Amino acid sequence: SDHALSYPAPDQFDWSAHYPAFVGSGKTPEYADIGCGFGGLLVALAPLFPDKLVLGMEIRVQVTQYVRDRIIALRATSAPEQPAPEQPAPAPAPYQNVSVVRANSMKFTPNYFPKASLSALFFLFPDPHFKARKHKARIISPTLLAEYAYVLRPGGIVYTITDVRDLHDWMNSHLAAFPLFEPVSEDDLRAEGKGPIVDAVYSSTEEGKKVERNSGHKWLACFRRIDVPRV
Ligand code: SAM
Repeated sequence: SDHALSYPAPDQFDWSAHYPAFVGSGKTPEYADIGCGFGGLLVALAPLFPDKLVLGMEIRVQVTQYVRDRIIALRATSAPEQPAPEQPAPAPAPYQNVSVVRANSMKFTPNYFPKASLSALFFLFPDPHFKARKHKARIISPTLLAEYAYVLRPGGIVYTITDVRDLHDWMNSHLAAFPLFEPVSEDDLRAEGKGPIVDAVYSSTEEGKKVERNSGHKWLACFRRIDVPRV
């Protein structure tokens, strides 16, 4: 249970074991995948943004370990040749910028991410929790949205996608009702150069691929963290 886990105090997390190639850079994760599952989005984003740190948060122990092992293997197989001694230091090797933590994001998101540190938060195919009495277990709720707004910087984007229409309506309506978020269309995101992120949101994850195999529909809803609350 959660009692067995130690959690960092806010702003105190030591990322050096997660991103050894970035020690001394002062960087903290900028992209966070909440409920990352088997890590498909992390692996897609890491090479697209080699100078940004990407973090997955996952509650299941074995799934988290799988993602950890997957990243270790990717780092090992894509490590570049050692440069000749007189060569300048190379850019960080691929996949050094991606990692995963085992955590309950519904309780501990602000312990991992300082205020306004994230430029994107991803909720891809979250568990639907169909029954009304289970809705409080959903990963988007008014209380949690306040936390997500806190860790996102103004201009940052929340990406949600699901194949469950009812959950889409739920996420969309809660985000739309929250004064610090405004909807942003897929077209606008693509026009801003975020097309590769949107593509990864649609189809990089294991759950997204499963929906494709079953010819299911995917509903995307994205929101921008704004600076001044809407009235
Ligand atoms: N995003 C992945 C994808 O698209 O393939 C996984 C989707 S899966 C349906 C939902 C994931 O969220 C599961 O791996 C589950 O263990 C994780 N999860 C559920 N509640 C969570 C929580 N409170 N904190 C962290 N992860 C959670």
